[in-house]
Amino acid sequence: MREFNSVNDLVNELKPVDPIYCIRPNSIRSACNWFNKNFPGKILYAVKTNPNEIVVNEIKNSGINAFDIASIEEIKIINKISPNAECYYMNAIKSREHIKEAYFKYNIKNFALDSKDELLKIIESTNNAKDLNLFVRISISNEHAEVDLSKKFGAISSEALGLFRLTKAHSAKIGLSFHVGSQCMHPISYTKGIGEIGNIIRKTKIIPDFINVGGGFPSIYPDLRPQSLDSYIFEIKKALANLKLNKMPQLICEPGRALVAESGSTIVKVILRKKQKLYINDGTYGSLFDAGQPNIIFPARMIQNGRIISKKLTAFNFYGPTCDSMDYMKGPFILPNNIKEGDYIELGQVGSYGITFRTKFNGFFSNEIYKVKDNAILSMYEKEDDGKYLVA
Ligand SMILES: *Cc1c(COP(=O)(O)O)cnc(C)c1O
Repeated sequence: MREFNSVNDLVNELKPVDPIYCIRPNSIRSACNWFNKNFPGKILYAVKTNPNEIVVNEIKNSGINAFDIASIEEIKIINKISPNAECYYMNAIKSREHIKEAYFKYNIKNFALDSKDELLKIIESTNNAKDLNLFVRISISNEHAEVDLSKKFGAISSEALGLFRLTKAHSAKIGLSFHVGSQCMHPISYTKGIGEIGNIIRKTKIIPDFINVGGGFPSIYPDLRPQSLDSYIFEIKKALANLKLNKMPQLICEPGRALVAESGSTIVKVILRKKQKLYINDGTYGSLFDAGQPNIIFPARMIQNGRIISKKLTAFNFYGPTCDSMDYMKGPFILPNNIKEGDYIELGQVGSYGITFRTKFNGFFSNEIYKVKDNAILSMYEKEDDGKYLVA
């Protein structure tokens, strides 16, 4: 795969007709280094966020070789790239066939569940295996998250106690897990989740082998500027100490977005401008899904490419290339006032939930991917040396 010094160099040389997806290996390395240095436990990369081979390889080479997987296909991806990786099958709802294949073919012992029926399925599909590490996922409020996962997963407190006791009887090791929702804007969500786990421990008098605080660690967007990641770790440590356990369970986390969001940019071309509406060549059926319904505002930057860039800024809405009016991205995306047809825009933070969401709907699909060496438009990890990047 070709590597360019910068997004600008890439555009000036290729003048791409179709959208281009860029990967910044340096960003992945910075994020992984940060988590390795600061998170006091095991880090699982949530593969669904971005299963691209270069991305997964970079994560592995940065010292994270344990993965939160949600499907057999993801197991296969990891198995190919890193045959001795540790995989955790953390989708709380799985088919019997997939549980069986994961256990018997891929030697996976770690499974999540949030109901008694799922527990029975796991027991039956593994022929009563005695070497399972089972994680009971509990439901907690996702009030500070941009993407809520609590409506779909997690045992509610009235069920959690019985389920935890029953699961204990059928597992070699047992864990409790939660997910605060994706892009969690306040560390207090982790405090509450750990507090909820504390209640379960007190009531059942069972100390789990693992406490898994899930994903949800934030990235940074123009309108979503979270506290530093240090404060998230600080709150997690404080909440764990507050449990006052004689024996501290092993801590686990499952970051997706925070490890890879900054590593990806999509370069789009303006096909037409109608006042404040920009019709661009990628959209919600491509790598910009999150700019649609979840209305994530990606940082946007007009690429010079021989043009004068106006200092005056305007708020734009984007429209994608397909014929569906859901292919609309409200933004606002703040760009120079003089932007016009033929100009290129870099959209940042699409390394998570971007490249993996692309469809071939309406015949628009680009698979042009390159590596770049320059910095992300916004960063939780880069130093604020020129005032442009935010310090964590
Ligand atoms: C999606 C998901 C993650 C990753 O979440 P982020 O918000 O991207 O960090 C982690 N764990 C589970 C179980 C998930 O479903």
